[in-house]
Order: sequence, then structure tokens, then C-alpha cells
Amino acid sequence: MKVMKFGGSCLKNADDFELVADIIQSEKEDKVVVLSGVYGVTDRILNFLEENYGEEDVTKFIEEIRKLHIEIGRKIIPCGNIFKETERRFGEKLKILERLLYGVHYVGELTEKTRDLILSYGERFSVLLMEGLLRCKGLNARALESEQVGLITDGNFGNATADLPETERNLRLSILPLIRRGIVPIVTGFFGCDSRGKVTLFGRNGSDYSASVIAYGVNAEIVEIWKDVEGFMSADPKFVEDAHFIDSLSYDEVAELAYFGARILHPRAVEPLKLKNIPMRIKNIYKRENPGTLIHATKKIWEGRVIKSVTYKEEIGSIKIYGAGVGSKPGVLGDITKYLSENRINIKSVITSQTCITLLLEKEDVERSYRILSQKDIKTVERIEKVRGISLVAIVGEGILEYPGIAAKVFRAVASKGINVEMFAAGASEVAFYFIIKKKYLKDAVEAIHRVFFGGNRDDKT
Ligand code: ASP
Ligand code: MG
Repeated sequence: MKVMKFGGSCLKNADDFELVADIIQSEKEDKVVVLSGVYGVTDRILNFLEENYGEEDVTKFIEEIRKLHIEIGRKIIPCGNIFKETERRFGEKLKILERLLYGVHYVGELTEKTRDLILSYGERFSVLLMEGLLRCKGLNARALESEQVGLITDGNFGNATADLPETERNLRLSILPLIRRGIVPIVTGFFGCDSRGKVTLFGRNGSDYSASVIAYGVNAEIVEIWKDVEGFMSADPKFVEDAHFIDSLSYDEVAELAYFGARILHPRAVEPLKLKNIPMRIKNIYKRENPGTLIHATKKIWEGRVIKSVTYKEEIGSIKIYGAGVGSKPGVLGDITKYLSENRINIKSVITSQTCITLLLEKEDVERSYRILSQKDIKTVERIEKVRGISLVAIVGEGILEYPGIAAKVFRAVASKGINVEMFAAGASEVAFYFIIKKKYLKDAVEAIHRVFFGGNRDDKT
């Protein structure tokens, strides 16, 4: 059995839906389909929520969302009865979204719980369109929402983790019987619900993670992540003209690449797969015959080059906490992490010295973290500083810690461009290391590293 996931970039318009339907129909194996919302819908809802909207704005916004989906629906579902049914079911869902938006307006408050629920609607709409389209083509498809299949989470709003054993028990009862009856389940990505039924999101691009959780739950042989690009690359082609595709990566390499900025996959999407050794393949809807990137347990060391990809986070958040002996006094770091985790702020990395603790955070978390820590009386801390305008560059490859000279080669490349490395960390991961530079040097740094490992001078072996 296969899990096939199609992201928003494959669901931009009617033609995309037709193409995706064709890919689903050509797959002869048993399959579960996982869908994102129609391209841009989650963003639109998010932007709307962030505006200070009034009652009339809701009516207008809902009309926009209706139009966007119905225009696609009309084109892709030419069968009258099925279209009518889809339109009716879509209308019911849209009504709920509308009421929720009014509710937020009247209450004048948006809780995390309501926000997660509201943002889940993009996926609830798209699965209905795909079911309609596939049924119209004669395929026995069934749109299912995460609650219906029993995709259970830990209840952490905005960034939930699936309860895998519980979800597996549920999927055996919800999805497998459908498959046995020849039905193709079309399941909403992006969210699950906690044990009390509260909707919780898996974070942006969470449908990748949903697909892996479902693959775990149904014991799939493989997960296919369909996109409008072919797979992982040796660098962002925006920065490096001759960046190339990578045909195979290990779970750990992918986890680090996604963690350190590669936007192609959700950072936790390989976690459930690793537990059951289920491979994943990234595929391009426009180049179906190409194999894409295979992600699996096999750890391949690229002899000579070692590095497979260089990635980056254009803007990484950072806070420096100064004080005599902060690095050696027991409990200081413990206090800091406790205060931040109480507020659900994730620390991406910590580097300490005797006089300074440096935290790396998502840039969105910097202000809040600074406020929280400044209000606390943490022993020996004298001063806290926010650092802005910095980027993180990471290089990834199995064997990176075992082969000598790789860091030296990276730093020589960066130094030759006159770029100063502000901070550097290696050893935390067996397959990655990273460093921090001023944002204005980012493109030059990525280019220089790529060139020394892959471009022009291929004899320059490590
Ligand atoms: N629709 C959600 C997002 O835009 C989830 C996803 O596409 O995977 O983040
Ligand atoms: Mg998306």
C-alpha cells in the first residue's frame, strides 16, 4: 500500500486537480491520498485572521473563498449530480468557517484553539473537490477529515505531534476496511485532533507529516510526496545556478536539511517513517517518470565529497545572555529552558561559553523570549541582548563528523569571500554542522561552499 500526498503547490487550479486525479487513477496499487488545501488558501485565512476585520469583511471574505473553490469545482466536476452534492457539502463547511470568523470578531479574541480549528478549513474544502472529481471519473473515492479517521495528537496547538500507537489503532478500523472495499480514502492533511476532539495543527506544511503518520498507521510500503519540484537539491537554485538534484538521502540527512531551512519538506515528516523503516519519495507532478529523491534508512557516504547539500535559514533568531560564569553555574541553562518551554517556545540550538549563553530561535519567537527572560531573575545573568540580521548556513551529509578537513574546507571557502563566521556548531548531529553569518553575506556564503564541494573544481577533494 502507498500513501500519496499532494501539496498546495500541486493544487493551484482546475488543471492541477485534473493532473493529480490522473496520477491517482494511474496508480494501480492500494492507496491512501492525503491532500493540502488549495494553493494559498491557508495563507488567505491566516492573513484574514491577522487583520482587524469587521462583520462586512467576513461576508466578503467568505464569498471569495466560495468563488475560488466553486470555480475549480465547476470545471473539474462535470457530472451534475456529483457537483451538486459537492457544492452542498462544501457550502455546509463554509457556513461553519463563516460562523467561526463571526465568533472571533464578536468575542474580540483569537485563542490558539480557535485559530487551529479555523486554519484547518483549507484542507476540509480541498478533499471534497478531489472526491467529486475522482467519483466523476468513476473512481470510488471518499473524502475524510482527520477526526473521522482518528488521527490523534498530543494536543499541542500549532505544532502538534501525533500519538502514533493510538492513531494506528484507529486507522486500522477507519481506513483499512475502506481499502479492502476498493475505496480510495482522500484524507485531510495538516491537522489531527487530541483525545477530546480538539483540532491541532502540525505546523505549516504539516500535510507532509500527516502523510507519514498515516503511512505509519496503515503500514504503508512507501509515502510519495508529490510537489511541483523534483526533490532535494544540493543548494537552493535561487542562489546557486548549477545546483543539482539529489537522488537519495538518509532519514537523518533529510531531518537536518528540513530543520535547517530546506522548505521542501516538513521538518518532522521523516520521524514516523524512521520508526517503521518506511521509505519516502519526493515526486514532481510535471515529471512523473523521474524517480525524484528517495529518502530511506540507508546511510550512504559520498566518498571524497561527503557533503550532499548546503541549506540555510535566511533569518534566524538569536538571544545572548551574558553574566559571569553563566556557562559553569549549574541551573542557569535549566532556568532559561524552563521559562521558554513553559511558554511553548522551542530553542533551536544553544551554544555556551563561560560568560555567554547564545540561544538560536525561530525569528518569530525572539521578541517574546526576550520579554519572558528579561522579566525573570535568573542567577548571575547581567544582561540579555537580541541579535538581528543573522542567517544560519548548514551543510549536511552522512559521515561529516568522521572525515577530517570538511570544516576547514567550508571555512576556507567562506573566508575567501571575506565573510566572518560569527558562531559555529558541530557535533550535535552526526550528519550536519552549521554556522552563523551576517545576513548580507548569505548568498555569497552558500555559493562559495557549493562551489568548493561541487562546482568547477571537482578535483578539490576532501
Ligand atoms: N495548508 C497547510 C499550509 O499551507 C498545510 C500544508 O500545505 O501542508 O501550511
Ligand atoms: Mg502548503
